[in-house]
Amino acid sequence: MTPPLTALIADDDKATAKLVEMLLIKWGIKTVVAYDGLEALEVMMQADPPSLLLLDWEMPSYSGIELCEKIRQIDTANPPYIILCTARDSAEHIVQGLNKGANDYISKPFNTQVLKARVEVGKRTLELQSRLVDAMTRLDHLASFDELTGLLNRRVLFERIREDFSRAHRAKENLCFAVCDIDWFKRINDKYGHPAGDAILRQLGDLLTQELRPYDRLGRIGGEEFLLLFSVKDDCNAVKVLERIRSAIEHHDFVYEEKLIAVTMSFGATFIEAGEEVARVEAYFKRADEALYRSKETGRNHVTFSENIV
Ligand SMILES: [Mg+2]
Repeated sequence: MTPPLTALIADDDKATAKLVEMLLIKWGIKTVVAYDGLEALEVMMQADPPSLLLLDWEMPSYSGIELCEKIRQIDTANPPYIILCTARDSAEHIVQGLNKGANDYISKPFNTQVLKARVEVGKRTLELQSRLVDAMTRLDHLASFDELTGLLNRRVLFERIREDFSRAHRAKENLCFAVCDIDWFKRINDKYGHPAGDAILRQLGDLLTQELRPYDRLGRIGGEEFLLLFSVKDDCNAVKVLERIRSAIEHHDFVYEEKLIAVTMSFGATFIEAGEEVARVEAYFKRADEALYRSKETGRNHVTFSENIV
């Protein structure tokens, strides 16, 4: 969605600033006015700064051109559209202005029609930029999250876990790395249909999110398999947390089209002691997965730790 357009008019000549302000308001644009370069820069440093800038070249504290340079150094996904307003309209000055980051320039004194046309070009450019930023944000989201559950997907989850490992190592925290898998998921799909299976996955994603703390790591790594990573006091604590989650799932009312569906999950986990030389994510995944296999073999709805496998 395109945010409402706000323009910054920076001009030390109050009569000119007033005239431009009146015109922009008439054309349906919100305005902010600054009477010198510093004041204009301060406006641009605030949250949600104006996106269309009309900067006078000759101003106290910072000239329009210095302002251009400073504004272009601000790190933003939505850079403003800058029109330099100047009586210096020699080729050399125009080139200098554009090279310093201006998008366009307009000669003073203004021709109202030309100003309006230039402002329209700015508006169109900003709208296009805003649509591109939205599209990129959506693509980024699609590339990082599982569409069904809204949880992190496998690729991004493994990336984040690598960062979690480094952080936990520095903070000397114990971690529990767990994978869990829905028991007899195929039977659920066969009996109630795939939309029911999808609903279970979504409800399970919500339930796991509720059971964990906001800073714990959770993601869907495949069909009916999820991965959890959280810090714990000790190994007993890790067992307790996973048992609590396993039991919460067993006793949760999973509902699809008013039908109550019984769901249980099997867990496989490995304990990562603070300070231990951290291995690759894949190595812990393999250990946890082997423990999960043991949970499946020993009757399901069960938590197994890799340390307990002899
Ligand atoms: Mg001036």
